[in-house]
Amino acid sequence: NGTAMRFETLAIHAGPPRDPAFGAVMPPIYQVSTFAFQGVNQPGPFDYSRSGNPTRKALEDTLAALEGGGLGYAFATGMAAEATVLGLLSAGDRVLVHEDLYGGTWRLLTSVVARHGVTVDFADLRDPAAMAAALRPETRMVWIETVTNPLITVLDLPAIAAAARRHGALTVVDNTFLSPFFARPLDLGADVVIHSTTKYLNGHSDVVGGAAIARDPDLAKRIGFLQNAMGTCCGPFDAFLVLRGIRTLSLRMERHHANAVAVARWLAQHPRVAQVLHPSLPGHPQHALATRLYTGFGGTFSFRVKADAAGIARMLGAVRTFTLAESLGGVESLIEQPWTMTHASMDAAARVRAGITEDLVRVSIGLEHPDDLTADLNRALAAI
Ligand code: PLP
Repeated sequence: NGTAMRFETLAIHAGPPRDPAFGAVMPPIYQVSTFAFQGVNQPGPFDYSRSGNPTRKALEDTLAALEGGGLGYAFATGMAAEATVLGLLSAGDRVLVHEDLYGGTWRLLTSVVARHGVTVDFADLRDPAAMAAALRPETRMVWIETVTNPLITVLDLPAIAAAARRHGALTVVDNTFLSPFFARPLDLGADVVIHSTTKYLNGHSDVVGGAAIARDPDLAKRIGFLQNAMGTCCGPFDAFLVLRGIRTLSLRMERHHANAVAVARWLAQHPRVAQVLHPSLPGHPQHALATRLYTGFGGTFSFRVKADAAGIARMLGAVRTFTLAESLGGVESLIEQPWTMTHASMDAAARVRAGITEDLVRVSIGLEHPDDLTADLNRALAAI
């Protein structure tokens, strides 16, 4: 009818038209490796599931619609999506990366990508002068997260993407923490959006998956070529689960955000808590920028505890409603210490330089009642 669908509607109706075979109201799982040719040299719309699969395509088209991209691709994990997009680079190229980021991305860059002749430069991209100084003639890609993991820094994405574009470099944005419900990096100048769909997009802690979405058709097709060439795609059953998760993304993100704000405010007044890193709090260093760029912040944030390593271990050992576990974005609340868990793959000096120290605790606030969560944190903080 010519009217663009709103996000909530797209999350439910984007993707392929209703199943032509039986009218199934949701895309069925095509759990197959290969498809019959219609004749010699006459493949059908799909020929082999690494190259394309109808269930994965339903997810990929939905991801593209939600991020406002031209084409989307779904991968086996977030790291598979990252490795594939980094496959756009060639020996001799440089990639510029904000220094506070997911430890697994740091490991991929420093111990895999760097061995293939790509130079990885880290800089503090909060500072435009530091970015300008770090852009070299060979810099082909700038890599950031919408909200950094684990320090919850919000970078000036439009300014960074504009500077990268003037330089002739692509901007890749990992939008895992906010999801397209709260952040649309392509609208702010990014060239490629990455996700660990393991997190909010799937939302139920029962899948690992990844995604990459691009608006420029040639760039998107290059990513599609690499997905097929590298074999990094996700399987049909995982695609089905992520797509099922996406149907409720809007509801979940609103509640994750509301619960996280309630818990962050409660923590901010606790005498054992030194600092709460949540963009919605007026004391957050990028509060104004964050609320201008994004409509909410999901459920993941960090805080600093006034305790030594043994005290923090006692605290993390005392939770009952929270689970001590890596990952984020599921219905259940998780708590972790980046120093020993999600960011242990980053060398100690790089962690300290970025500000990822032993007193930092990260939480993924789930969909439980917030009063049960603060009661659990109260008990844990008392155990210090
Ligand atoms: N990007 C971010 C921001 C993450 O937090 C993670 C995982 O924790 C990844 C990427 C990697 O995703 P996966 O674990 O699905 O490979």
